[in-house]
Amino acid sequence: MKINPIYSTFLILTLLIGCNEATEIHKDAALFSKGERITNENFKGTAWLNMLATPDSLNTMYAGLVTFEPGARTNWHSHPAGQILIVTKGEGYYQEEGKDKRTMLQGETIKCLPNIKHWHGASQNSEFAHIAISSRDKGPAQWFKPVTDDEYLK
Ligand code: MN
Repeated sequence: MKINPIYSTFLILTLLIGCNEATEIHKDAALFSKGERITNENFKGTAWLNMLATPDSLNTMYAGLVTFEPGARTNWHSHPAGQILIVTKGEGYYQEEGKDKRTMLQGETIKCLPNIKHWHGASQNSEFAHIAISSRDKGPAQWFKPVTDDEYLK
């Protein structure tokens, strides 16, 4: 059977576009839900927490997915046993006291050293999410003042 070359070109293009659409849908699907809105005073703006793992008799670690709407951020704080941040979405900021703010992008990991005062959050124009891993050893995080707009924009 002979297929009209115009028709076969159309067929191939349709298949290619179809595959591309399927890839796009998969890429945009969230792996985890945002969880519950954070209502405590330690955050400014709108942020969400999905606690993925909590400590138990075998393990001392917490892992929580934190999602920040644009402009949302933590207050200044420190972790007595340090913290690991794995960025899963968007663009955000991380700053340690006395140092310049740095940009964090999806796919990056940042290690916060124990007792170093810092903050993290979304950039002005991007939703931002990270998985925060910390330990219950040595006690809870210490919370300080909110990050002012001057500090945030610097
Ligand atoms: Mn932290």
